[in-house]
Amino acid sequence: MFNCVNKRKYYNIRKGVEVMKESIVSLTRKLIEFRTVEKDRINAAADYCAEWLAAHGVQTRVLDNEGLKSVVSIIGKKGPTVILNGHLDVVPAGPDQFIPYVAEGRLYGRGSFDMLGSVAVMMHVMAELVQEELPCRVMLALVPDEEKGGQKGTKYLVEHGLLGDVVICGETTNLDIAVQAKGVLQVEIEIEGVSAHGSRPWLGDNAILKAVETYKKIAELPVFSVSTPYFEHPSLNLARIQAGQAINQVPDRCIMDLDIRYLPGQDPSILLNEIKQVVNGSIRVLSEGEPVQTNPEHPLILRLQQAAEKVAGRSIELFGQHGAADTRFYAARGIPAVEFGPCGANHHGKNEYVETESLVAFKEILTEYIYMF
Ligand SMILES: [Zn+2]
Repeated sequence: MFNCVNKRKYYNIRKGVEVMKESIVSLTRKLIEFRTVEKDRINAAADYCAEWLAAHGVQTRVLDNEGLKSVVSIIGKKGPTVILNGHLDVVPAGPDQFIPYVAEGRLYGRGSFDMLGSVAVMMHVMAELVQEELPCRVMLALVPDEEKGGQKGTKYLVEHGLLGDVVICGETTNLDIAVQAKGVLQVEIEIEGVSAHGSRPWLGDNAILKAVETYKKIAELPVFSVSTPYFEHPSLNLARIQAGQAINQVPDRCIMDLDIRYLPGQDPSILLNEIKQVVNGSIRVLSEGEPVQTNPEHPLILRLQQAAEKVAGRSIELFGQHGAADTRFYAARGIPAVEFGPCGANHHGKNEYVETESLVAFKEILTEYIYMF
């Protein structure tokens, strides 16, 4: 129930935890109930967050980009800028997952862990610190579309100069710190064959079988067995196959889509060239995303690790994340960006939950960190 924080140590350093926890949990529940899967629901949640912040004395701006809203607030008047980035959108789930409930120290519901709990924490941090004399600026960025690639939210904010000196995206890291993330390269490969009657396959050239052979050759390329201290190897997923017209025909065309996640330090154009060497057909890049390689030795990252260790009462690991997040848009601008958030499980799955105690710990860590500037 209470996996990632040393309970005794934690209780010793903070009183009034229960009141704060209730407030964070209640805001998280409210956000879950918005069902922020679609545009209108996400925008309604963004408006609600802006109103909540304003009611707590935090000035906010709501930015509309192609019909999707982001919320931005800045507190503090001097010093470097810490960006707290949270996404309001969640992945789809059955209706029962949008009725949040608490049991045995866990808050269940779609988005509780990924990442409405973090959003609620970040909003509480802003509300609590708005009147204080801070040693740095804190920018809260609540965005609408991380789950769909972040183009209309974080990417837009970054392009419009809403930058800072360090970025914390409140993703699902169990209070460890993700300093790296794999890059994304998604490609469509079209293989041609020769059709023939299904009773005489030797007269044709089966495009599906050729595609499978091609996939095997790609998987065996040396670029897929590279490793780094944070990752064992890049990943290759044969995600989609479109081929075959009739049961009694040899297919003459096969389209296969590959989802490749390459390692920080690998060059996607070299990777693509190597793939081209073993493909007898055409290749089209469907989508690309840069990896994140924040320097684990960066003083602002070590400081976050220190703050987390102090509050959690255990050692905090720096690690590499397999999937992509909005950190990449900041990282592309050379800003140290990490994924860092509370403890829980089953994000994107059934029975998603966040540990309520870890939400309070997350808030304490962020506050501690802000005062370390
Ligand atoms: Zn997320």
